[in-house]
Amino acid sequence: AIPLVTAVSTTLSAQNGLLIRDRTAFENSRKITTILFDKTGTLTKGVFEVTEIFTTKEFSDRKLLRYAASLERESEHPIADGIIKKAEKEEINYLEVSDFQAIKGEGIKGKVDGKKIEIVGPNYLRKKNIKKPEKLEPTKLGTVVYLVLEDKLIGGISLSDIIREESKKAISDLKEKDISCWMITGDTEEVAKQVSQELEMDGYFAEVLPHEKQEKIKELQDKGEFVAMTGDGINDAPALAQANIGIAIGSGTDIAAETADIILVNSNPLDVKKLILFGQKTYKKII
Ligand code: ADP
Ligand code: MG
Repeated sequence: AIPLVTAVSTTLSAQNGLLIRDRTAFENSRKITTILFDKTGTLTKGVFEVTEIFTTKEFSDRKLLRYAASLERESEHPIADGIIKKAEKEEINYLEVSDFQAIKGEGIKGKVDGKKIEIVGPNYLRKKNIKKPEKLEPTKLGTVVYLVLEDKLIGGISLSDIIREESKKAISDLKEKDISCWMITGDTEEVAKQVSQELEMDGYFAEVLPHEKQEKIKELQDKGEFVAMTGDGINDAPALAQANIGIAIGSGTDIAAETADIILVNSNPLDVKKLILFGQKTYKKII
């Protein structure tokens, strides 16, 4: 039989948007000293809009969008959805794709119309030493992906995402409870800085690859921190598993939900505070 306190707290949690997959983790939520938040899809809605397309002289915006959207159709990333939405609006017809492959935490690659294409973030360009003509830059701050055709950079697409309305209060509530709140993201330094400052977070880790998210958590744990990780993506799964408490966003990927101890059913970051309060109450009733 399920003990009464457990039954009551489970019902209370469910009514408040928390799906508890691991009871011990739930009860341990009172011990959290640090929470890491993934950016895209967690603190933000993960709904991207294309704000700008920029290309070298030889390519039109339309041609670049056509290559990009054709390949992004194979990807499940929120960036892909934003690019497809734009292509649909512009009534672009797609080209044939083969050899599609995701480059974990960095982008995608494959063949479009028989040509080798990579769509990647700026970190990847730097790492692979792909030259960027000086003028080939977006004019506004945002998430930028570049299109590399047969090893040559031909342009890029800027996208904007929206911060969830509840994120700022969620962070300030947690900070009030002396929990330090950090962002951890695969996106660039510039974007990470802007969003984490706007949310008044304690800091950020940017340009972090999926396995590095996990390593970062391990490092914090070795320093004695009791770490919760909140995320939504496939790329967050290793970190969710490593954290003392893994918290998945309900609207996120199945892999994140299956790896996490707790799921925020309403995708509301404010529910993290409820988790801590309920965890405390349940603990007090048990002892
Ligand atoms: P986050 O940690 O913020 O959730 P991700 O790890 O999912 O971010 O992605 C990190 C970066 O990898 C993106 O900012 C982008 O540069 C690149 N990227 C990932 N998937 C794609 C894709 N389908 N198309 C283009 N770029 C991608
Ligand atoms: Mg994410």
